[in-house]
Amino acid sequence: MAKYICTVCGYEYDETEGDQENDIIEGTLFEELPSEWTCPMCGVGKEDFEKDFYDEDEDEDEDDE
Ligand SMILES: [Zn+2]
Repeated sequence: MAKYICTVCGYEYDETEGDQENDIIEGTLFEELPSEWTCPMCGVGKEDFEKDFYDEDEDEDEDDE
């Protein structure tokens, strides 16, 4: 499970907790959020979030680009 940070206001979406106020159940992956989901704090869309790497396995391979 990962966390995603709103780059605008700093709101943190935690996949383990979901977004109860917006009917997002716990365990919902960020990719699984409905496209109309927006930041509960400032209202920006998912495209303005970035993944927060915390205790995931560090992947040295640059297969992201
Ligand atoms: Zn925000």
